[in-house]
Amino acid sequence: MSWDDDTRPATGRAYDGRLLARLWGFVRPYRRAFWGALVLSPIHQGLGLVQPYLLKLGIDGYVREGDIAGLGSLAVLFAGAIAGEFLGMWGQQYLTMVVAQRSLADLRLAVFARVQRFPMRFFDRTPVGKVVSRVTTDVDVLAEMFAAGAMTIALDGLKLLGIVVFMCVIDWRLAAASLVLLPPTVLAIDFFRRMARRTYREIRERIARINGYLQEAISGMTVIALSAREARCFDEFSRLNADHRDANHRSNTLEAALFSLVEAAATVSIAVMLWRGGVLHRQDLLELGTIVAFIQYIQQFFVPIRDFSAKYAVLQSSMTAAERIFALLDEPVEAVPAVPQRPRQARGEIVFDRVWFAYRNADWVLRDVSFRVGPGEHVAIVGATGSGKTTLVKLLSGFYPVRRGRILVDGVDVRDWDPAALRRHIAVVLQEVFLFSGTLADNVTLGHPEVSRAAVERAGRHVHAESFVAAMGGWDAPVRERGSNLSAGQRQLLAFARALAHDPTVLVLDEATSSVDPETEWLVQDALERLLDQRTAIVIAHRLSTIERADRIVVLHRGGVREEGTHAELLGRGGIYARLHRLQSQGGPAPFEAVS
Ligand code: ADP
Repeated sequence: MSWDDDTRPATGRAYDGRLLARLWGFVRPYRRAFWGALVLSPIHQGLGLVQPYLLKLGIDGYVREGDIAGLGSLAVLFAGAIAGEFLGMWGQQYLTMVVAQRSLADLRLAVFARVQRFPMRFFDRTPVGKVVSRVTTDVDVLAEMFAAGAMTIALDGLKLLGIVVFMCVIDWRLAAASLVLLPPTVLAIDFFRRMARRTYREIRERIARINGYLQEAISGMTVIALSAREARCFDEFSRLNADHRDANHRSNTLEAALFSLVEAAATVSIAVMLWRGGVLHRQDLLELGTIVAFIQYIQQFFVPIRDFSAKYAVLQSSMTAAERIFALLDEPVEAVPAVPQRPRQARGEIVFDRVWFAYRNADWVLRDVSFRVGPGEHVAIVGATGSGKTTLVKLLSGFYPVRRGRILVDGVDVRDWDPAALRRHIAVVLQEVFLFSGTLADNVTLGHPEVSRAAVERAGRHVHAESFVAAMGGWDAPVRERGSNLSAGQRQLLAFARALAHDPTVLVLDEATSSVDPETEWLVQDALERLLDQRTAIVIAHRLSTIERADRIVVLHRGGVREEGTHAELLGRGGIYARLHRLQSQGGPAPFEAVS
């Protein structure tokens, strides 16, 4: 099955050897606790079983005879059994949860580590919510499996068997009377469980819908507010919410019916047993203590039967969850070159050599693209939206492999570069600056210890970030999630500082199109110049000033290089660039690429 299949019902096998073996890989480091829990389980169950028998011995042996001393020692034994059962159960639960929480924390970590190594392709086709739900919800389902004691479902069967054996050994006639209701009860439980399972699936699907809706609505809150759609969204959400509530309601009704059914079955069984026991007792064929013991056995008997099918269902859904988690763990990771290379000399030369690329099949996004950027040279890439500019950058960073041709960075094919070294060598500043929650300084260093505070401050000063940083309270001021407490211009400057502090050889920049106030605009422009100074740079340019200042301009059109040259040369040629330029000059401050 595929790991992102949320709809698959949990009605598969409850025991899948292959999956359990893989799960065991995570439990193994905590195997002592695991075996401890497993050993404690039959012990406390056994101690639970002997209690009614001790009661019987007490009543029939000592109470009837009036042997108070004997009764006293039996009471000590009885108390011991109760204490032992309690301790055993406590120990078993404790150890089980130790195993569960530790191994599942490891599992979550393994999934996260794997996700970090996935190629960009993976994130193109995967909604974030799906991955999040694998790491949280599915792991929680596994936790539930431990909590419900579903792993030890076989031991429940053993307990049932134990009760039947005890009953039959004490008095088989009474045992038969007690168990007469068993077959119809089991059938009824099975019927209710089947119905309940259907509603569980409904609940799961509906909560998934609620989560999806919430995720979209909350992340698009600004748009919702701007378009005054709150009322409509509220209605949509309240409908989803009501659907979920109704499904839960049905499930609760069934659960309640099941519980009362089992209670009733136990009570009626006790009544049948008492009636039969009463007859036998009057005929002097049965002792009173036996009847008391049987009342307790019957009470103990129906609970595991009731829980058995619930545990079975938990096992089934946890196998489905495990299957999805492992399928995610089996997704291929980013290819790493066999012998990662770095160039002998970092000069900052970039060569696109007959590069072809498509995200899917043969939908070519880049066709036979060739150009060279010499060390220290500044090249502006222009072209209409969708012409493939951003794709060039992604290929250069090695996020996707080229289909044909090659890209050389300082003479080494990006496919052969050590990926981490390549991304240090080339700093990419995207149009949408992504900021993490943390401090301003964290957002510049990105957690790299080699970037010192002094380097952060120097970079900040260099790109004019220091005045707003000071206004916010210094480099340790907090950045809220996604930098929502910073303006677009401030985010840009911070991104420049981030690039500069890491001192890359090559800078790739997708110039922001968002307009900022004239003063910030000037700061950004000046910071940009300082940033590019003495570095090789490829700028996806939108502003005329940036383009005019570039050493060379590469015009992309439908994935191919159409024109190449300086501003003056291209204007003189009277081609696409000249037309774009004319349109933009007439159209005022519109971003360069928006006109095609
Ligand atoms: P530009 O930056 O010039 O606007 P892009 O490089 O972003 O252009 O996109 C070029 C083409 O590739 C567009 O047709 C776009 O739809 C397509 N494209 C971009 N990213 C992806 C992706 N992750 N998966 C599939 N197609 C994509």
